[in-house]
Amino acid sequence: MDDLLSLRQSFLDEISAVSEIAELQQLKVRYTGRKGLITGRLKALSTVPPEEKPAFGRAVNELRDFVEQSIEDTETELRKVEKQKRLLSEKIDITLPGRPLKAGNIHPLNRILDEIKDIFVFLGFNIEEGPEIELDYYNFEALNIPKHHPARDMQDTFYITDDVVLRTHTSPVQVRVMEKKRPPLRIIAPGKVYRCDADISHTPMFHQVEGLLVDDDISFSDLKGVIELFIHSFFGKDTPVRFRPSYFPFTEPSAEVDIGCIFCRGKGCRICKKTGWLEVMGCGMVNPRVFEMSGYGPDEFSGFAFGMGVERLTMLKYSIDDIRLFYENDLRFLMQF
Ligand SMILES: [Zn+2]
Repeated sequence: MDDLLSLRQSFLDEISAVSEIAELQQLKVRYTGRKGLITGRLKALSTVPPEEKPAFGRAVNELRDFVEQSIEDTETELRKVEKQKRLLSEKIDITLPGRPLKAGNIHPLNRILDEIKDIFVFLGFNIEEGPEIELDYYNFEALNIPKHHPARDMQDTFYITDDVVLRTHTSPVQVRVMEKKRPPLRIIAPGKVYRCDADISHTPMFHQVEGLLVDDDISFSDLKGVIELFIHSFFGKDTPVRFRPSYFPFTEPSAEVDIGCIFCRGKGCRICKKTGWLEVMGCGMVNPRVFEMSGYGPDEFSGFAFGMGVERLTMLKYSIDDIRLFYENDLRFLMQF
């Protein structure tokens, strides 16, 4: 019995010194484990004289219950302390200033494309779209460019099969629209086009905006009016505009549109090749052959079409001298817009 009392005392001394869960586990093994001190006492029961057995047995069991309960209580207490410590160490200081996130901005090409669309939508044009993988028929033949026509040489085409191409311009959209709708038509078709060509002013993929207006009695002066209004909205109202005779198979007559050089104000510089003028788009009155192929009578309607390169207009507007900058995704370039 004295032995049990001193065991109880030494347990109390040891548990009061425990400060970590791991130490507590060791203590538990030492007292109540399979080869533990209390387990040892229970095994020694057989050596106790028979008349003392009940009392001794009861005392050992009581001691075991007491030890187990103390260990459990201490463990609960220690876990509470540990949790408290962790909460303190993981505390978030909500008074710290935040880390700023870099906001993105609109790509210069999309910015200019939006500006072009806004001007034409304001003039009552609708926006139309068409496929980028296009039939040879829509890309060339229905635009009065039959096979072996020399104008095909002007456009280095990516052929998928003999009859399927990556569209070389957005003009096929006008044919697709004319097949489905009757005039009056006022559309622009913005989108990606493809040509095998790559240098500082050409990339294999670039963007065009095609325009088409068809109605009764549309004349070249309507074309001039719309184009001049566009250029004055886009480049500024004092920008000189001139129409220079040109040739496209799908328009007749055709013209290139030049603006007075915005860099040298017409005096002549490297960018305008000393001419004082910059070419910005092509246009013309829709060729009656194109109307016929789209199912309109040749004398039924008249109209005009125009096409411009979005990269070219963006380069002029922002004085960018290398088209490849648009596609390199260099943030130092893109963040300037
Ligand atoms: Zn110039």
